[in-house]
Parts: sequence; C-alpha cells; structure tokens
Amino acid sequence: MMSIKSNKEIMQAAIHVAERNETPFGAALAMGNELFAAAANQTSQKSDPTAHAEIEVIRKLADQLQKKDLSGFTLYTTCEPCPMCMSAIIWSGISTVVYGCDIPIISTYMKQIQIRAEEIAQKSSADIEFHPGFMLTECEDLLRKYS
Ligand SMILES: [Zn+2]
Repeated sequence: MMSIKSNKEIMQAAIHVAERNETPFGAALAMGNELFAAAANQTSQKSDPTAHAEIEVIRKLADQLQKKDLSGFTLYTTCEPCPMCMSAIIWSGISTVVYGCDIPIISTYMKQIQIRAEEIAQKSSADIEFHPGFMLTECEDLLRKYS
C-alpha cells in the first residue's frame, strides 16, 4: 500500500476506509508522505470493543513490518484518539498525531471518555506532536452520517 501522498490524501485514505465500513472512525499511518496502512473501527464486525480504528491500524502496520516500534510514523485519524488508543499510540512510539474532530465535538454525537489525547501524552515520557482539526468538515460529516 506504499505510495506518495499529500497530508490531505493520507487523511482522505482514513476517511475512505471509514466510509467503506460505515463508521465515523478511520485511521492511517504514514512515514512522511508515504502511506503505509489504513483501517476503520471494527468493533461491530469483530465483536471486539477494543477494535478502534487506531488500534486496528497500529496492529496492521506492526504486523506488516514485523516490529513493535513505529517511531517516525504519523497517525492520521478522523477523530481524536480516546485514552485507550492514545495509550497504544504512546506504546508504539508514533511521533505525530493528526486528527479531525476533537473529543468535545465527538461528545455531541456519542459518549466519550473526557480525557484529551494531549493530556495523556503530557503524562508520559513521549514527545508527540499534535495537529488537531485537520479536515474537520469532512471528518465531522462522517460523525453526522454514521453515529
Ligand atoms: Zn479509541
């Protein structure tokens, strides 16, 4: 799945995989402008409450690369990572997180744990860069359609 993309095209890949699975939640992993993997929330399909998009894409790429350290990768996700996913992002060593809708916005559509991703990162030793509100309109459209 490796190909050269712009930041917008990488988030678009996350949006497309979410659309295909009729969920507001899609995620993609890229190294610079190279897209490596994309996945959607699979909680219903897998009967697995932990199968969030971010967890799915981390598992997919770690398995693909046969390594647990994903440092240098940027995670794109349509919605701000929940505390479970943010913890997985920290454990995997991902360097940068780009997201569309933040937790306050997601909370207007469904229940959320009210702890922000940056707050979790600040309590770890990881130095993660955040880019919130990226392609917000397109990401919120998914929440409107599928939540
Ligand atoms: Zn999550």
